[in-house]
Amino acid sequence: MPERNVYADHNATTPLHPEVKKAIEGVLDVFGNPSSLHSYGRYARSLVEEARETVGRFINASPEEIMFVGSGSEGNNTILSILACPGRECSFNVCQGRDLITSTIEHPCVLETSKCLIEKGVNVLYIDVDEYGKVDVDQIRDMVSARTGLVSVMMANNEIGTVQDIEAIADVVHEKGALFHTDAVQAVGKIPVNVKDLDVDFLTLSGHKIYGPKGVGAIYVKKGSPFCPLIRGGHQERGRRAGTENTLGIVGLAKAIEMRALEMEQEEKRLLLFKEHLRKSIQTQIPDIRFVGHPTECLPGTLNVSFDGAEGEAIMLYLDLAGIAVSTGSACASGSLDPSHVILATGLPAECAHGSIRISLGRENTQEDIDYLLDVLPGVIGRIRDMSTFYAGGRK
Ligand SMILES: *Cc1c(COP(=O)(O)O)cnc(C)c1O
Repeated sequence: MPERNVYADHNATTPLHPEVKKAIEGVLDVFGNPSSLHSYGRYARSLVEEARETVGRFINASPEEIMFVGSGSEGNNTILSILACPGRECSFNVCQGRDLITSTIEHPCVLETSKCLIEKGVNVLYIDVDEYGKVDVDQIRDMVSARTGLVSVMMANNEIGTVQDIEAIADVVHEKGALFHTDAVQAVGKIPVNVKDLDVDFLTLSGHKIYGPKGVGAIYVKKGSPFCPLIRGGHQERGRRAGTENTLGIVGLAKAIEMRALEMEQEEKRLLLFKEHLRKSIQTQIPDIRFVGHPTECLPGTLNVSFDGAEGEAIMLYLDLAGIAVSTGSACASGSLDPSHVILATGLPAECAHGSIRISLGRENTQEDIDYLLDVLPGVIGRIRDMSTFYAGGRK
């Protein structure tokens, strides 16, 4: 039995906030179909519409601009699909036949969708990032042309935490008359997000990264924007996403957002202090390391660090034996031993990408958790390096 259990993989998913659990428990018996006109249906409908207002208010959107979806992945797939919309119902085919521009560090649900769009004949251009994982706004200005339909750049990266200057990017995209989407799944609820200030046309968020339930998310679709349904059928979500609404999930998502509105500012300050303490201690206690991601323009609780001569998978497994959960690369890419596309995009060689772990902190983490992690980590790295044929560090 490990001395302590520490969950430090909040960018993969989070536990339910106790208030979210209560809110979901409170509506477990609400089974009415929100589309039904009788009292059962009307009650379920009122919960869904109240949730829509809560979500909209948090990002400064009006309720009609919020659409519930089944996940962040579905939200991103839906928005990107406007570039190849096959349906007659797509009255605005302004985007059809036009280019997509996206970055090389997007989440797999954006990158895989972009590959699929290429197969459908869409021209896709990829923006590089610098050593900190930042995209260059001037490069975007050069890339966007009259042929561009949509530009999609994530607000905060899930693996390295780097936060982009979304307002400046949206600005240059709009100068050329194209539309702008941001995957804000890691940003909403961790850093301030205001769709009017950012001036985005589309934005994606998800419940389970912010102490809400899995399998529910939302997209912001600015009033008057083109749209293409991904799931066709009934008239739910104003005909934009068929399927009976996930009332329990939607109530849980709204409660998670309500709790973030109350707790985010203080909570994220606390996580930033923990991270800075981790960063300094790792730096002084362990030789031959490097931090990946932007030193300041970064999610408060995310720290990605690469250790020379130590495989990320080995570090993760040894830490797991000690009761500590961290991750290597993205949860979606683990299982494969390919180095992380995000870390490679920052220009680090493949060996370093292999040697990196992501520590992502959250609201249940305590100072004792951080101390325990710092007690265990140097020994784990030392042991792995002793066995490694690649590490010459101590013997140089
Ligand atoms: C987790 C994540 C997603 C996918 O969200 P799901 O709700 O798990 O489908 C998309 N983008 C980013 C940046 C993420 O971290």
